[in-house]
Amino acid sequence: METSFFRETWADIDLDAIADNVASMKKRIPEDTALMAVVKANAYGHGAVHAAETALENGAEWLAVALLDEALALRKHGIEAPVLVLSPIRPEDAEMAAKYHISLTVFQKEWVKEAAQAYHSGEPVFLHIACDTGMGRIGVRTREEAAALAGEIGKDRRFVTEGLFTHFATADQDDENYFNEQYRRFETMIDWFSDLGIHPPVIHCGNSAATLKYPTEKRHLFNMVRYGIAMYGLSPSPEMAKKLPFELKRALSLHSCLTNVKKVKAGSAIGYGATYRAKTDEWIGTVPIGYADGWLRALSGSDILVGGLRCPIVGRICMDQLMCRLPDAFPVGTKVTLIGKDGADEITADQLAEKLRTINYEITCMIHPRVPRVFW
Ligand code: PLP
Repeated sequence: METSFFRETWADIDLDAIADNVASMKKRIPEDTALMAVVKANAYGHGAVHAAETALENGAEWLAVALLDEALALRKHGIEAPVLVLSPIRPEDAEMAAKYHISLTVFQKEWVKEAAQAYHSGEPVFLHIACDTGMGRIGVRTREEAAALAGEIGKDRRFVTEGLFTHFATADQDDENYFNEQYRRFETMIDWFSDLGIHPPVIHCGNSAATLKYPTEKRHLFNMVRYGIAMYGLSPSPEMAKKLPFELKRALSLHSCLTNVKKVKAGSAIGYGATYRAKTDEWIGTVPIGYADGWLRALSGSDILVGGLRCPIVGRICMDQLMCRLPDAFPVGTKVTLIGKDGADEITADQLAEKLRTINYEITCMIHPRVPRVFW
């Protein structure tokens, strides 16, 4: 256990869970299909370097991030595996990417032109062409755009097309129509690029949902899959949670301790705005986590586990602290679990997502970097 922090709130990261989730997926995909571990946004809040190292030790061959800065941080920690930046970067930063052998997403011919002008080294720049098959975010959409991009790439031998990919908008949903449409469009786009003389060695489209859902014999996911949310033990959607092909092990739990416990008289106000009034004489505990840690004010009124018992948050969540109603006089120092198991009960990222009308991805990402991660 690594501890070098001075506060009583922390997130435990179970690296064995990540290892198992990667190994299970690796077993499910064909041997010649590479696994790209998606570790953007600090590995969805789980700690990018530890998650990346664990994934690589358990069968992942590639890493993906969203930002060049995230890729450089992995390199600074000595990670040498291939890394793809999934979002567009500034053309003038291609030099930095090439220097550290970081692969880039490309789809605009203007980008290639500007990068070529700004780039003075002879090192190759490795490119993955993004195809917009229906996500509507980034990527080539028409045959004309494909031809223009291929033409621009072909002008400069330093640009090496390493990959071709797309991203699904609805792979986590039961209705497969839109997914099938996107898949067919991707096949067509692969043909466009092939006609243009572009035959990248790596072709990828499957996110966690598509890869969990489609066994190889049903749907060919080309030769690499991008594994994100499920690597952290979370289902891509509530619909999919009931039909997972193997058990996903949740890797993140969030904990704190009671720092103050007091009995207040009936009618006493708690928190900013004095929005909560004790109905009877009540035991109130204070927990050192607040919205600056990512524990949003919108979670006021939801439950936390104190000594394994569900207790409601009362009053408004403050920036650094919150208050909860206790069933009894719990000692200061009692363990508080905000995400995870304690005793027979568990609070999951999925439950919190439902409460906040969002998705589990956002719950783990919202835990602020000032909450230390403890790796097990
Ligand atoms: N590929 C791209 C381009 C993404 O943006 C993401 C996540 O947002 C992923 C793969 C991973 O998706 P998931 O976390 O659903 O596996």
